[in-house]
Amino acid sequence: MMVLERINYLKDEINKHNYNYYVEDNPTISDFEYDKMFAELKLLESQNPLLITPDSPTQRLGSVSEKFLPYKHKHRLYSLDNTYNYEDLTKWYNKIEKEYGNDIELVCELKIDGLAIALSYENGIFTRGVTRGDGITGEEITQNLKTIKAIPLKLFKDVNVEVRGEIYMPKTSFEKLNEENLKNGEKLFANPRNAAAGSLRQLDSTITAKRDLSMFTYTLITDNHPKTHYESILALKQMGFKVNPNIKLCKNVQDAIDYCKYWENKRFELDYATDGVVIKVNKIAIQEDLGFTARAPKWATAFKFPPEEITTKVKEIELGVGKTGAITPVAIFDPVQLAGSTVSRASLHNFDEIKRLDVRIGDTVLIKKAAEIIPKVIKVIETPEHNDLPIYEPPTQCPVCGGKLGFRDGEVNLYCLNPECSELLKAKIEFWASKDAMDIDSLGPAVIEQLYDRKLITAPVDLYRLTKEDFMQLDLIKEKSATNLYNAIQESKTRPLKRLITALCVKNVGKETADILANEFGTLENLQNAEIEELTNINGIGPIMAEDIYKFFHDEKNVIMLSELKRLGVEPPPADVPKSDILKGKTIVLTGTLANLTRDEASEIIKSHGGKTSSSVSKNTSFVLAGENAGSKLEKAQNLNITILTEEDFLEMIKE
Ligand code: NAD
Repeated sequence: MMVLERINYLKDEINKHNYNYYVEDNPTISDFEYDKMFAELKLLESQNPLLITPDSPTQRLGSVSEKFLPYKHKHRLYSLDNTYNYEDLTKWYNKIEKEYGNDIELVCELKIDGLAIALSYENGIFTRGVTRGDGITGEEITQNLKTIKAIPLKLFKDVNVEVRGEIYMPKTSFEKLNEENLKNGEKLFANPRNAAAGSLRQLDSTITAKRDLSMFTYTLITDNHPKTHYESILALKQMGFKVNPNIKLCKNVQDAIDYCKYWENKRFELDYATDGVVIKVNKIAIQEDLGFTARAPKWATAFKFPPEEITTKVKEIELGVGKTGAITPVAIFDPVQLAGSTVSRASLHNFDEIKRLDVRIGDTVLIKKAAEIIPKVIKVIETPEHNDLPIYEPPTQCPVCGGKLGFRDGEVNLYCLNPECSELLKAKIEFWASKDAMDIDSLGPAVIEQLYDRKLITAPVDLYRLTKEDFMQLDLIKEKSATNLYNAIQESKTRPLKRLITALCVKNVGKETADILANEFGTLENLQNAEIEELTNINGIGPIMAEDIYKFFHDEKNVIMLSELKRLGVEPPPADVPKSDILKGKTIVLTGTLANLTRDEASEIIKSHGGKTSSSVSKNTSFVLAGENAGSKLEKAQNLNITILTEEDFLEMIKE
């Protein structure tokens, strides 16, 4: 392709994606792919400056929709240059050092993935709020902004200022909003940023008011600006604005790189999305001297984290059989880099989800790591090919054993109904050995497959009949690993009761419920003898679950299996009963790093005194146990007036 042709192609593509992203709040490619195209266009233009046209996306930014009244900014709002690597960041810094001397101070801030907004205050009163738009003209959305509690309507000081910041939606609120939209058959947002933009640019401000939006402020424009950016952030705070607490003053670029590295993983603990770190020269005099390019300041740059979402083509939909017999469809694609690892498969959950997304083999899809771990298909990208692809039809028989498939009690999952299905049996054994269950080190899928194929095992109970010699028959297993495997299985015989209950795969009983049952009954025999009413009376166990548990322990095959396990020596020590009930009925949230206890230890102590832990702060939280570097949970607790305890307070309370 000729350079001009390529440039025109990139310009068209980028303009199209700008429209989808800024006007429709509905991107169809990931930011990473967009940034790649943008960087290529910039490079081609820098090599061929004569081909730069004023309408090139590198010369302007954003888009203004026609939904709201346009407003011309008094001071232009710029974008930021960005990079995904530390060499570019260092080059940018070295160039500045060369001009202004060594050790130029930098300020690092988290790059909040929301949308930029400019707010005006006259004599300390909020008068106008405008979106960034194309940087020169934005949309006036003052009424909508007034519904956001983090935006002060009156400042602590009677000042005339303009400030800029980022409007964002907390991750938990974004998930809730999408869950509700899914229930009501409404549009789902691709990410918290699009949800924030969509919520803010509503013609009816009562809708905006219902959405949980917040704002971090990061730029101050005033006639008597402090000499450094860092001081201006402190000034913003003193005026009553919400500023992000994770700002850091850095001595040099290495300090800034360390900050970026720290937040690359740590960011997942925050309840708001960050897509990178913004690095700004601290001294305003140097900022003023450096100035701006057509679309971004030269005194700041964004280091972007590896992509969290990306588009890819579905090559195949693979079907697996899980430990409950549920058939799970998984999308298979060519390996791609996603949030720091290579992935080639993403869960599609069940056939209802495939229907809802309308995923077809050959489709281009957007994938993302859910809870930052498991890749998940978010949506199908609208492409001309999509309609020509055959609609995906769910299987009519088990892909492994050919057995009948069916639904259970109105659940959305499709199940293999053959209890002897080899995949189901192997999955049950794998689960038995897994970390959350009996935790049998090194007994992974490959060993289980061989043991199963040689007819040495068909159920977890068979593991306890295996000898070292049985393992020696397997491929690639020498005496040492055979001994290790054998010992690991023997050790698992005395795992705590909650693990054994988890491992049994009782319908609807996960590790949390197993924990409740173990605490309540103390021994397996007591649980086996429990009546339905007794089970229903337990907090956290509903009537359906109680019936499932009762049925499991009274099924003849299971009774035989449990007595065989006992005969083979699988006998957990009795579970600990609570040491006191001082925390009975209390829900406690842990945040930050404690000096003397790990999180697990603290949770164990809470449980052993009758309390419960929860991962999020709400008005039902009894108190928050906060250690060092506590983040948004602590902030939320303060806002809700919830008691905050230090580790010392907590240990003191337990002693009493
Ligand atoms: P940007 O989001 O990369 O960076 C600039 C913005 O960062 C500022 O306008 C501000 O809103 C924000 N920001 C957050 N925290 C900040 C802080 N502490 N200090 C200063 N600014 C802060 O730039 P942009 O011009 O808003 O958007 C361009 C980016 O948007 C692209 O790089 C791409 O990632 C994404 N985009 C994606 C698509 C798509 O189709 N996927 C399309 C268009 C744009």
